[in-house]
Amino acid sequence: MGDKKQTKVKVVVRVRPQLKENSKCCVVTNTECEKPTVEILNHRNIRENLLYDFSSVYDETCGQQYIYNNSIKNLLSKPLNGENISIFAYGPTGAGKTHTMLGSPADPGMIPRVINGLFQLLSTEDRLQWKYTVTFSYLEIYNEKVQDLLEPASIDLPIREDGDRNIFVAGLAEKKISSFDDFKNYFGPATNNRTVAATKLNDRSSRSHSIVMLKIKKSALMPPKREYHGKIYLIDLAGSEDNRRTGNQGIRLKESGAINKSLFVLGEVVDAINNNQPRIPYRNSKLTRLLQDSIGGSCHSLMITNIAPEEHYYYDTYCTLNFASKSKKIVNTNTACIKQLQNSGKVFITSFSSEGICL
Ligand code: ADP
Ligand code: MG
Repeated sequence: MGDKKQTKVKVVVRVRPQLKENSKCCVVTNTECEKPTVEILNHRNIRENLLYDFSSVYDETCGQQYIYNNSIKNLLSKPLNGENISIFAYGPTGAGKTHTMLGSPADPGMIPRVINGLFQLLSTEDRLQWKYTVTFSYLEIYNEKVQDLLEPASIDLPIREDGDRNIFVAGLAEKKISSFDDFKNYFGPATNNRTVAATKLNDRSSRSHSIVMLKIKKSALMPPKREYHGKIYLIDLAGSEDNRRTGNQGIRLKESGAINKSLFVLGEVVDAINNNQPRIPYRNSKLTRLLQDSIGGSCHSLMITNIAPEEHYYYDTYCTLNFASKSKKIVNTNTACIKQLQNSGKVFITSFSSEGICL
Protein backbone atom coordinates (compact mmCIF):
# COMPACT_ATOMS: atom_id res chain seq x y z
CA MET A 1 0.00 0.00 0.00
CA GLY A 2 2.67 2.46 1.15
CA ASP A 3 4.50 2.81 -2.15
CA LYS A 4 1.39 2.90 -4.31
CA LYS A 5 1.36 5.95 -6.55
CA GLN A 6 -1.23 8.58 -5.80
CA THR A 7 -3.15 10.25 -8.61
CA LYS A 8 -2.08 13.87 -8.29
CA VAL A 9 -4.44 16.71 -7.55
CA LYS A 10 -4.54 18.82 -10.69
CA VAL A 11 -4.18 22.49 -9.86
CA VAL A 12 -5.40 25.20 -12.24
CA VAL A 13 -5.76 28.94 -11.79
CA ARG A 14 -8.62 31.22 -12.76
CA VAL A 15 -8.12 34.98 -12.70
CA ARG A 16 -11.42 36.82 -12.65
CA PRO A 17 -11.93 40.01 -14.68
CA GLN A 18 -11.47 43.36 -12.98
CA LEU A 19 -14.73 44.42 -11.38
CA LYS A 20 -14.13 48.14 -11.94
CA GLU A 21 -12.62 49.59 -15.05
CA ASN A 22 -9.16 51.11 -14.77
CA SER A 23 -8.35 49.62 -11.40
CA LYS A 24 -4.70 48.71 -11.08
CA CYS A 25 -3.77 45.09 -11.64
CA CYS A 26 -0.98 43.10 -10.11
CA VAL A 27 -1.34 39.79 -11.95
CA VAL A 28 0.09 38.79 -15.31
CA THR A 29 -0.98 35.54 -16.90
CA ASN A 30 0.86 33.86 -19.66
CA THR A 31 -1.08 31.18 -21.44
CA GLU A 32 0.90 31.19 -24.66
CA CYS A 33 4.22 29.80 -23.45
CA GLU A 34 4.67 26.05 -23.29
CA LYS A 35 3.99 26.03 -19.56
CA PRO A 36 1.19 28.37 -18.48
CA THR A 37 2.25 30.73 -15.71
CA VAL A 38 1.01 33.45 -13.40
CA GLU A 39 3.37 36.25 -12.51
CA ILE A 40 3.15 38.80 -9.69
CA LEU A 41 5.52 41.32 -8.24
CA ASN A 42 7.85 40.24 -5.46
CA HIS A 43 7.08 42.67 -2.65
CA ARG A 44 10.39 41.80 -0.98
CA ASN A 45 12.31 43.06 -3.99
CA ILE A 46 10.53 45.20 -6.53
CA ARG A 47 13.08 44.42 -9.23
CA GLU A 48 11.86 40.87 -9.22
CA ASN A 49 8.69 39.02 -10.06
CA LEU A 50 7.44 35.69 -8.79
CA LEU A 51 6.49 33.20 -11.47
CA TYR A 52 4.22 30.24 -10.72
CA ASP A 53 3.60 27.21 -12.96
CA PHE A 54 0.21 25.56 -13.23
CA SER A 55 -1.23 22.84 -15.40
CA SER A 56 -3.75 25.34 -16.79
CA VAL A 57 -4.19 29.06 -16.36
CA TYR A 58 -7.56 30.60 -17.18
CA ASP A 59 -7.42 34.34 -17.63
CA GLU A 60 -10.27 36.87 -17.53
CA THR A 61 -11.29 36.02 -21.10
CA CYS A 62 -12.07 32.38 -20.26
CA GLY A 63 -15.75 31.72 -19.70
CA GLN A 64 -17.49 28.98 -17.74
CA GLN A 65 -18.09 26.77 -20.79
CA TYR A 66 -14.42 26.88 -21.74
CA ILE A 67 -13.25 25.90 -18.25
CA TYR A 68 -15.84 23.13 -18.05
CA ASN A 69 -14.83 21.73 -21.44
CA ASN A 70 -11.11 21.90 -20.72
CA SER A 71 -10.81 20.76 -17.14
CA ILE A 72 -13.98 18.99 -16.09
CA LYS A 73 -16.02 17.36 -18.83
CA ASN A 74 -13.65 14.45 -19.36
CA LEU A 75 -13.82 13.50 -15.66
CA LEU A 76 -17.54 12.78 -15.70
CA SER A 77 -17.29 9.23 -17.04
CA LYS A 78 -15.09 8.19 -14.09
CA PRO A 79 -17.83 7.81 -11.46
CA LEU A 80 -19.73 5.51 -13.82
CA ASN A 81 -16.90 3.02 -13.31
CA GLY A 82 -16.84 3.44 -9.57
CA GLU A 83 -14.10 6.09 -9.42
CA ASN A 84 -14.60 9.14 -7.21
CA ILE A 85 -13.92 12.70 -8.25
CA SER A 86 -13.62 15.94 -6.31
CA ILE A 87 -13.59 19.44 -7.71
CA PHE A 88 -13.02 22.38 -5.43
CA ALA A 89 -12.60 26.14 -5.69
CA TYR A 90 -9.96 27.70 -3.46
CA GLY A 91 -9.15 31.38 -2.96
CA PRO A 92 -9.88 34.55 -0.99
CA THR A 93 -13.38 35.97 -0.64
CA GLY A 94 -14.23 38.03 -3.69
CA ALA A 95 -11.93 36.14 -6.07
CA GLY A 96 -14.68 34.21 -7.87
CA LYS A 97 -15.15 30.83 -6.14
CA THR A 98 -18.95 30.97 -6.03
CA HIS A 99 -19.07 32.37 -9.56
CA THR A 100 -16.92 29.46 -10.71
CA MET A 101 -18.77 26.72 -8.85
CA LEU A 102 -22.35 27.98 -8.88
CA GLY A 103 -22.42 30.91 -11.31
CA SER A 104 -25.76 32.52 -12.12
CA PRO A 105 -28.79 31.42 -14.17
CA ALA A 106 -27.43 33.44 -17.10
CA ASP A 107 -23.90 32.14 -16.70
CA PRO A 108 -24.02 28.78 -14.89
CA GLY A 109 -20.94 27.53 -13.12
CA MET A 110 -19.41 24.09 -12.68
CA ILE A 111 -22.08 22.62 -10.33
CA PRO A 112 -25.02 23.00 -12.76
CA ARG A 113 -22.78 22.09 -15.71
CA VAL A 114 -21.57 18.89 -14.06
CA ILE A 115 -25.12 17.82 -13.19
CA ASN A 116 -26.33 18.61 -16.68
CA GLY A 117 -23.33 16.87 -18.21
CA LEU A 118 -23.83 13.82 -16.00
CA PHE A 119 -27.47 13.35 -17.04
CA GLN A 120 -26.50 13.89 -20.68
CA LEU A 121 -23.85 11.22 -20.35
CA LEU A 122 -26.27 8.83 -18.66
CA SER A 123 -28.77 9.30 -21.48
CA THR A 124 -26.24 7.81 -23.90
CA GLU A 125 -25.47 4.77 -21.70
CA ASP A 126 -26.77 1.27 -22.32
CA ARG A 127 -29.99 1.03 -20.31
CA LEU A 128 -30.70 -2.56 -21.32
CA GLN A 129 -27.78 -3.85 -19.32
CA TRP A 130 -27.37 -1.25 -16.62
CA LYS A 131 -29.50 0.74 -14.23
CA TYR A 132 -28.24 4.06 -12.92
CA THR A 133 -29.29 5.72 -9.69
CA VAL A 134 -28.13 9.24 -8.82
CA THR A 135 -28.55 10.77 -5.38
CA PHE A 136 -27.86 14.30 -4.27
CA SER A 137 -26.74 15.55 -0.84
CA TYR A 138 -25.80 19.06 0.19
CA LEU A 139 -23.85 19.91 3.30
CA GLU A 140 -21.71 22.53 4.91
CA ILE A 141 -18.69 22.39 7.19
CA TYR A 142 -18.62 25.38 9.45
CA ASN A 143 -16.27 25.63 12.43
CA GLU A 144 -15.44 21.94 12.04
CA LYS A 145 -19.12 21.00 12.29
CA VAL A 146 -20.85 19.02 9.55
CA GLN A 147 -24.34 20.30 8.81
CA ASP A 148 -27.03 19.08 6.45
CA LEU A 149 -28.37 21.80 4.14
CA LEU A 150 -31.16 19.66 2.67
CA GLU A 151 -32.66 18.79 6.04
CA PRO A 152 -31.12 21.29 8.43
CA ALA A 153 -30.90 20.45 12.11
CA SER A 154 -28.46 21.97 14.50
CA ILE A 155 -26.42 18.84 15.02
CA ASP A 156 -22.89 18.05 13.97
CA LEU A 157 -23.22 14.94 11.80
CA PRO A 158 -20.56 12.28 12.34
CA ILE A 159 -18.24 11.19 9.50
CA ARG A 160 -17.79 7.41 9.43
CA GLU A 161 -16.08 4.71 7.39
CA ASP A 162 -17.79 1.49 6.33
CA GLY A 163 -16.24 -1.97 6.01
CA ASP A 164 -15.16 -1.23 2.41
CA ARG A 165 -13.36 1.95 3.49
CA ASN A 166 -16.03 4.17 1.99
CA ILE A 167 -16.51 7.41 3.89
CA PHE A 168 -20.05 8.54 4.67
CA VAL A 169 -21.85 11.10 6.79
CA ALA A 170 -24.22 9.31 9.15
CA GLY A 171 -27.75 10.71 8.99
CA LEU A 172 -27.14 12.95 5.94
CA ALA A 173 -30.20 13.37 3.68
CA GLU A 174 -29.87 11.81 0.22
CA LYS A 175 -32.36 12.71 -2.50
CA LYS A 176 -32.80 10.61 -5.58
CA ILE A 177 -32.63 12.76 -8.71
CA SER A 178 -33.33 11.70 -12.30
CA SER A 179 -32.96 15.01 -14.10
CA PHE A 180 -31.49 18.46 -13.81
CA ASP A 181 -34.93 19.79 -12.79
CA ASP A 182 -35.04 17.36 -9.86
CA PHE A 183 -31.71 18.74 -8.72
CA LYS A 184 -32.93 22.35 -9.02
CA ASN A 185 -36.01 21.57 -6.94
CA TYR A 186 -33.88 20.44 -4.01
CA PHE A 187 -30.95 22.78 -4.47
CA GLY A 188 -32.88 26.08 -4.64
CA PRO A 189 -34.59 25.87 -1.22
CA ALA A 190 -31.45 24.42 0.37
CA THR A 191 -29.37 27.33 -0.91
CA ASN A 192 -31.92 29.66 0.68
CA ASN A 193 -31.42 27.86 4.01
CA ARG A 194 -27.77 28.62 3.70
CA THR A 195 -28.31 32.28 2.87
CA VAL A 196 -30.59 32.73 5.90
CA ALA A 197 -27.95 31.18 8.14
CA ALA A 198 -25.34 33.41 6.51
CA THR A 199 -27.15 36.65 7.28
CA LYS A 200 -27.68 35.61 10.90
CA LEU A 201 -23.99 35.18 11.34
CA ASN A 202 -22.24 37.81 9.32
CA ASP A 203 -19.55 36.17 7.21
CA ARG A 204 -20.58 32.57 7.70
CA SER A 205 -20.84 31.82 3.99
CA SER A 206 -17.26 32.88 3.37
CA ARG A 207 -16.03 30.90 6.39
CA SER A 208 -17.79 27.65 5.63
CA HIS A 209 -17.17 24.97 3.03
CA SER A 210 -20.27 24.25 0.97
CA ILE A 211 -20.31 20.76 -0.44
CA VAL A 212 -22.50 19.19 -3.13
CA MET A 213 -22.25 15.42 -3.20
CA LEU A 214 -23.58 13.19 -5.95
CA LYS A 215 -23.56 9.43 -5.65
CA ILE A 216 -23.87 7.38 -8.80
CA LYS A 217 -24.80 3.71 -8.56
CA LYS A 218 -24.51 1.59 -11.69
CA SER A 219 -26.13 -1.84 -11.31
CA ALA A 220 -26.14 -4.64 -13.86
CA LEU A 221 -29.63 -5.84 -14.69
CA MET A 222 -28.35 -9.32 -15.57
CA PRO A 223 -26.50 -11.82 -13.37
CA PRO A 224 -23.92 -11.69 -11.87
CA LYS A 225 -25.49 -8.29 -11.12
CA ARG A 226 -22.31 -6.32 -10.65
CA GLU A 227 -22.51 -2.89 -9.02
CA TYR A 228 -20.30 0.20 -9.23
CA HIS A 229 -20.48 3.10 -6.82
CA GLY A 230 -18.95 6.47 -7.72
CA LYS A 231 -19.06 9.85 -6.02
CA ILE A 232 -18.68 13.42 -7.19
CA TYR A 233 -17.84 16.19 -4.74
CA LEU A 234 -18.26 19.82 -5.84
CA ILE A 235 -16.96 22.20 -3.22
CA ASP A 236 -17.02 25.95 -2.77
CA LEU A 237 -14.35 26.31 -0.07
CA ALA A 238 -14.23 28.91 2.70
CA GLY A 239 -12.39 32.11 1.85
CA SER A 240 -8.66 31.53 2.24
CA GLU A 241 -8.03 35.00 3.70
CA ASP A 242 -9.39 33.74 7.03
CA ASN A 243 -6.03 32.20 7.65
CA ARG A 244 -4.19 35.41 8.17
CA ARG A 245 -6.53 36.89 10.76
CA THR A 246 -4.20 35.72 13.44
CA GLY A 247 -3.41 38.96 15.18
CA ASN A 248 -0.65 41.44 14.48
CA GLN A 249 2.07 38.85 14.42
CA GLY A 250 1.11 38.18 10.81
CA ILE A 251 0.68 34.75 9.37
CA ARG A 252 2.07 32.05 11.51
CA LEU A 253 -0.51 29.55 10.52
CA LYS A 254 1.07 26.57 12.15
CA GLU A 255 1.13 28.25 15.54
CA SER A 256 -2.20 30.02 15.26
CA GLY A 257 -4.46 27.08 15.99
CA ALA A 258 -5.63 27.50 12.38
CA ILE A 259 -8.78 29.58 12.21
CA ASN A 260 -10.09 27.40 9.45
CA LYS A 261 -8.50 24.08 10.25
CA SER A 262 -10.03 22.22 7.32
CA LEU A 263 -8.57 24.65 4.80
CA PHE A 264 -5.14 24.44 6.33
CA VAL A 265 -5.16 20.63 6.46
CA LEU A 266 -6.45 20.50 2.87
CA GLY A 267 -3.22 22.26 1.85
CA GLU A 268 -1.18 19.64 3.70
CA VAL A 269 -3.18 16.80 2.16
CA VAL A 270 -2.76 18.17 -1.39
CA ASP A 271 0.99 18.59 -0.80
CA ALA A 272 1.34 15.10 0.63
CA ILE A 273 -0.53 13.57 -2.32
CA ASN A 274 1.34 15.57 -4.94
CA ASN A 275 4.72 14.70 -3.37
CA ASN A 276 3.73 11.04 -3.19
CA GLN A 277 4.21 10.89 0.56
CA PRO A 278 3.14 7.63 2.16
CA ARG A 279 1.17 9.25 4.98
CA ILE A 280 -1.62 11.65 4.09
CA PRO A 281 -3.06 13.53 7.12
CA TYR A 282 -6.72 13.05 6.11
CA ARG A 283 -7.87 12.60 9.69
CA ASN A 284 -6.66 16.01 10.84
CA SER A 285 -9.79 17.89 9.70
CA LYS A 286 -13.44 17.26 8.90
CA LEU A 287 -13.18 18.25 5.25
CA THR A 288 -10.20 16.05 4.47
CA ARG A 289 -11.65 13.15 6.46
CA LEU A 290 -14.82 13.45 4.36
CA LEU A 291 -12.75 13.54 1.16
CA GLN A 292 -10.51 10.64 2.21
CA ASP A 293 -12.02 8.30 -0.39
CA SER A 294 -12.30 11.02 -3.05
CA ILE A 295 -8.91 12.74 -3.18
CA GLY A 296 -5.59 10.95 -3.65
CA GLY A 297 -5.40 7.19 -4.23
CA SER A 298 -6.97 6.49 -7.61
CA CYS A 299 -9.41 9.42 -7.38
CA HIS A 300 -9.47 12.36 -9.75
CA SER A 301 -9.27 15.77 -8.13
CA LEU A 302 -9.15 19.27 -9.47
CA MET A 303 -8.41 22.39 -7.50
CA ILE A 304 -9.52 25.59 -9.20
CA THR A 305 -7.50 28.37 -7.61
CA ASN A 306 -9.39 31.64 -7.90
CA ILE A 307 -7.51 34.90 -7.75
CA ALA A 308 -8.54 38.54 -8.16
CA PRO A 309 -6.33 40.74 -10.34
CA GLU A 310 -6.68 44.04 -8.48
CA GLU A 311 -3.74 45.52 -6.66
CA HIS A 312 -5.54 45.64 -3.31
CA TYR A 313 -5.83 41.84 -3.42
CA TYR A 314 -2.07 41.53 -3.80
CA TYR A 315 -1.37 39.91 -0.45
CA ASP A 316 -4.25 37.44 -0.75
CA THR A 317 -3.11 36.61 -4.27
CA TYR A 318 0.45 36.09 -3.09
CA CYS A 319 -0.67 33.73 -0.29
CA THR A 320 -3.09 31.90 -2.58
CA LEU A 321 -0.48 31.29 -5.27
CA ASN A 322 2.01 30.07 -2.66
CA PHE A 323 -0.61 27.68 -1.31
CA ALA A 324 -1.55 26.38 -4.74
CA SER A 325 1.81 26.04 -6.48
CA LYS A 326 4.98 24.71 -5.00
CA SER A 327 6.94 25.50 -8.15
CA LYS A 328 7.73 29.16 -7.75
CA LYS A 329 10.57 30.92 -9.55
CA ILE A 330 12.00 34.36 -9.01
CA VAL A 331 12.45 36.19 -12.30
CA ASN A 332 13.76 39.57 -13.31
CA THR A 333 11.05 42.19 -13.85
CA ASN A 334 12.40 42.66 -17.35
CA THR A 335 11.46 39.23 -18.63
CA ALA A 336 10.28 39.33 -22.21
CA CYS A 337 6.84 38.05 -21.30
CA ILE A 338 6.05 40.70 -18.77
CA LYS A 339 7.53 43.51 -20.85
CA GLN A 340 5.43 42.50 -23.79
CA LEU A 341 2.28 42.52 -21.69
CA GLN A 342 3.14 45.81 -20.05
CA ASN A 343 3.76 47.34 -23.43
CA SER A 344 0.39 46.11 -24.65
CA GLY A 345 -1.15 48.20 -21.86
CA LYS A 346 -2.91 45.13 -20.53
CA VAL A 347 -1.45 45.30 -17.06
CA PHE A 348 0.05 47.68 -14.64
CA ILE A 349 2.83 46.43 -12.48
CA THR A 350 3.29 49.10 -9.92
CA SER A 351 5.92 49.15 -7.26
CA PHE A 352 4.70 47.97 -3.92
CA SER A 353 5.66 49.22 -0.56
CA SER A 354 5.71 46.40 1.92
CA GLU A 355 3.96 48.65 4.42
CA GLY A 356 0.90 46.98 5.80
CA ILE A 357 2.05 43.60 4.64
CA CYS A 358 3.12 41.60 7.61
CA LEU A 359 4.88 38.35 7.00
P1 ADP B 1 -16.05 34.38 -3.83
O1 ADP B 1 -17.10 33.31 -3.87
O2 ADP B 1 -14.67 33.84 -4.07
O3 ADP B 1 -16.12 35.22 -2.61
P2 ADP B 1 -17.60 35.54 -5.96
O4 ADP B 1 -17.78 34.36 -6.84
O5 ADP B 1 -18.74 35.94 -5.11
O6 ADP B 1 -16.30 35.37 -5.06
O7 ADP B 1 -17.13 36.74 -6.91
C1 ADP B 1 -17.02 38.08 -6.46
C2 ADP B 1 -17.65 38.99 -7.50
O8 ADP B 1 -16.96 38.90 -8.73
C3 ADP B 1 -19.09 38.62 -7.82
O9 ADP B 1 -19.82 39.80 -8.04
C4 ADP B 1 -18.98 37.82 -9.10
O10 ADP B 1 -20.15 37.89 -9.87
C5 ADP B 1 -17.80 38.48 -9.80
N1 ADP B 1 -17.04 37.49 -10.60
C6 ADP B 1 -16.25 36.54 -10.13
N2 ADP B 1 -15.67 35.82 -11.11
C7 ADP B 1 -16.12 36.36 -12.26
C8 ADP B 1 -15.90 36.07 -13.65
N3 ADP B 1 -15.08 35.09 -14.05
N4 ADP B 1 -16.54 36.84 -14.56
C9 ADP B 1 -17.35 37.84 -14.17
N5 ADP B 1 -17.60 38.16 -12.89
C10 ADP B 1 -17.00 37.44 -11.93
MG1 MG C 1 -18.45 32.80 -2.34
